[in-house]
Amino acid sequence: MFERAALVHYHEIGLKGRNRAAFERRLAANLTAAVEGLTDGRVTRIASRLIVPVSHSRRAGDVLAAIARIPGVAHVSDAYVTAREPVEMERAALLAVRDADEFETFAIEARRSATDYPETSQAMNVRIGEMVRRETGKRVDLTRPDVTLWVEVVQGAAYVATRRMHGPGGLPVGVSGKVVALLSAGIDSPVACWRMLKRGAVVVAVHFSGVPHTNDLSVRLVHEIAESLEPALGLARVYTVPFGDLQKEISLLAPPDLRVVLYRRLMLRVAERIAAFEGAEALVTGESLGQVASQTLENIAAVDAVAAIPVLRPLIGMDKLEIIATARVIGTYELSTQQHADCCTLFMPRTPHTHATVAECEAGEADLDIERMVADALAGMTQRDFRCPAYKPPKGQHA
Ligand code: ATP
Ligand code: MG
Repeated sequence: MFERAALVHYHEIGLKGRNRAAFERRLAANLTAAVEGLTDGRVTRIASRLIVPVSHSRRAGDVLAAIARIPGVAHVSDAYVTAREPVEMERAALLAVRDADEFETFAIEARRSATDYPETSQAMNVRIGEMVRRETGKRVDLTRPDVTLWVEVVQGAAYVATRRMHGPGGLPVGVSGKVVALLSAGIDSPVACWRMLKRGAVVVAVHFSGVPHTNDLSVRLVHEIAESLEPALGLARVYTVPFGDLQKEISLLAPPDLRVVLYRRLMLRVAERIAAFEGAEALVTGESLGQVASQTLENIAAVDAVAAIPVLRPLIGMDKLEIIATARVIGTYELSTQQHADCCTLFMPRTPHTHATVAECEAGEADLDIERMVADALAGMTQRDFRCPAYKPPKGQHA
């Protein structure tokens, strides 16, 4: 019997010096958390690969699936671990091809990362390919094989596999700092969160609900959205702010056509305060240029004017169809298309301003006690945590 392991590949492009060590440490820690309860043993690094031991072979599929959800993983293979002996490698190769489904053609892709192993990759390809052909009667096809057998020779061991899953790529959560994302139960903002955590940011979300002027369905949906992103281990916490009364106040005291922009400006101010006590360095929204009337360059500028930290919009250049495709892949689309009352549509004017200026917004806010409103929002806020090993919660409570 051979030991089994998940062999994790990541893209090394752009990883240099200290960055690289931090990347690998973070990815190893995230992988350790991802496979908790599924396998025993430590994650180790060999020759720019991370190795996750698979201690119960019948859980191999679960271990692979958990790893394939982790940002930073390019792909992961379900490997047999063998000694660097030709006979052992061939025995493992036969087991691995027998794991594969029905197939007619195959290819061998051998690689050696250890220079102290004498046989070249090409010689391994030929030797192992010959043996598989002889033992199984299947044909070699190097261009479009039904099955590929990967053989990797590293320091002290060889890994042999036919089963491989793609990961999301990107960077491990935790290497790029922390952001506060405005998360609605719509289609876009969950995708925006996903794109940020795929770039290595820990995401803390804030959701504004229309409560008490709507029910709390949007809150439940946002929590379910966070749960469906949970296997990526990157969305750490969701704050919920009951926003309905504050919107009502805006609707009573400010010009109707500015309501949407003023709601958004208030949301951003609250989010920025959360960022301050969370130690987050940027805000994130799911806006895409021109998608709806409020998402014009003028309105974006009018909203950004209230924030002192960067407001990132990872979807700004994406089409709705592209966003929907991603939402389906990450599993949030079904939730995002459930009917719910969105706080933005509360007290909606008939014709929202599409080109609001900062001066107009400031004049529109003249009768509002903005500081008190932000304080009210923070006072009514609740929170729920999700799994994110890279998350460092704030020490104190917010002011
Ligand atoms: P989404 O699908 O993300 O709701 P959208 O296309 O419906 O986006 P808007 O409703 O105009 O666009 O919202 C633009 C952005 O403002 C959202 O992507 C989100 O980041 C933020 N936002 C809007 N409503 C809320 C809310 N209720 N709570 C938190 N953030 C919100
Ligand atoms: Mg929306």
